[in-house]
Amino acid sequence: MILVTRSSMPEFQEYCDEIKKLWDSHWLTNMGVEHQELQKKLEEYLNCPHVVLYTNGHLALENIIAAMQFPEGSEVITTPFTFVSTTHAISRNSLVPVFCDINPDDYTIDVDKIEALITEKTVAIVPVHVYGNMCDVERIDQIAKSHKLKVIYDAAHAFAVKYKGVSSANFGDASMFSFHATKVFNTIEGGAVCFQDDRLEDTINDMKNFGIRGQERVVFIGGNAKMSEFQAAMGICNLRHLNREIGKRKCVVERYRNNLGHVSGIKLCKPQKDVEPNYAYFPVVFDGFRASRDKVFDALGEQGIAARKYFYPITNSVEAYSELPSAGGEKTPVAAYLADRVLTLPLYADLALEDVDRICEIILSCRR
Ligand SMILES: *Cc1c(COP(=O)(O)O)cnc(C)c1O
Repeated sequence: MILVTRSSMPEFQEYCDEIKKLWDSHWLTNMGVEHQELQKKLEEYLNCPHVVLYTNGHLALENIIAAMQFPEGSEVITTPFTFVSTTHAISRNSLVPVFCDINPDDYTIDVDKIEALITEKTVAIVPVHVYGNMCDVERIDQIAKSHKLKVIYDAAHAFAVKYKGVSSANFGDASMFSFHATKVFNTIEGGAVCFQDDRLEDTINDMKNFGIRGQERVVFIGGNAKMSEFQAAMGICNLRHLNREIGKRKCVVERYRNNLGHVSGIKLCKPQKDVEPNYAYFPVVFDGFRASRDKVFDALGEQGIAARKYFYPITNSVEAYSELPSAGGEKTPVAAYLADRVLTLPLYADLALEDVDRICEIILSCRR
C-alpha cells in the first residue's frame, strides 16, 4: 500500500531525548521551553520577525482573519481551488467569501480577475499558495494597496518556499502555515501565523490564549489554540532534518517529471521563475489523455496506490456553501475544469524511485 503522503518523523530516540525534559519539568503546554525554542528557530529559519505558533493551521488562519477586525458581512476575495479550511476560516468569521478563478499555469489566484470582484464591501484578499506554488505576490500587493485591502496568505502548502530569496512567510499583511502531519514540515498537528507588524502581536497571542496577559489580567475575549510542548518538540526535531527531506522530495519529483513530462495528455506544473520550491505536492492534470482522471485514480487504487483528487470538489461546489451568492463551480471555470482532471500523486521523502516508476507505468497503462 502506498499512500499519497507519509509523515516525516525523526528517529524515535531523537524525539525521546527531546521530550525527556518534559518529564523533568512536568510542563506540558502553555508556551514552555519547547514552544519558545521552536518559535525562535522558525523566526530565524523563515527570517520573519513574528511567528506565532498554533495548535493547527486552521485556527491560525481563522484567528489572523479575526485579528483584522473586519465589519461583519464584509467580502473577502479568495479561490475555491483549495482545502475547505480556507473558505471556512473566512465564513466562520461572519465574512462572505467571494470566489475568484485561478490561472491555468500554477493554479493560484488569477490576478487579472481580482479587480472585477471588488465592491465597496470588499476588505481583504485571501489567496492560496496552492501546492507550494507562489501566488503573484507583486500584483496582489499592488491591487491591495490601490484598493486599501488586507492580504492574508493561506501558505499552508508553502513552508520553506522562497520567492526572489525571500521566504513565503513575508508577503502580504500575514501568512498562515499548517504543520499538519501531512505537510512538508510537521508538528503532528500545528500551524503558525507570520507577519511583520508589531501591533498585531498582542492581539494574535490574546486570541490563542484566552486574552490572558498575566495572572490577574484578561484583556480580550480570546479562545484557546495553543501549541503544546509535545507538538513543539516534534517540530524542533523535524526542522533539523527538513532540508534533507526536501532534497529527497526533489529526487522523487524529478523522477516523476522524467517519466511523465513528455507524455501527451498529461500536464505538469512548470517550475516557477525566481521560486525556490519545497516539492510539497505533485499534481498531474489529465487533459486529452486517453483515460479519464477517475479511471487513472481507480487503476492506481486497485494496485494499492492511493493518489488524491486534490482539489475535488472545489469549495464553491460543496454542500456547505450551496446557499452562498457566489457559489457554483461554473463561475470559476478554470478551477472547475482542473478539479475534474487533476490528481496528486504519492510524494514523500522516503518514496522509493522504483515505486515512482511503478506508479507511472500504471498511469501509462491506462491509455486505451
Ligand atoms: C492543511 C491546510 C489547511 C489547514 O491546516 P490544518 O493544520 O490542517 O488545520 C488550510 N489550508 C490549506 C490549503 C491546507 O492544505
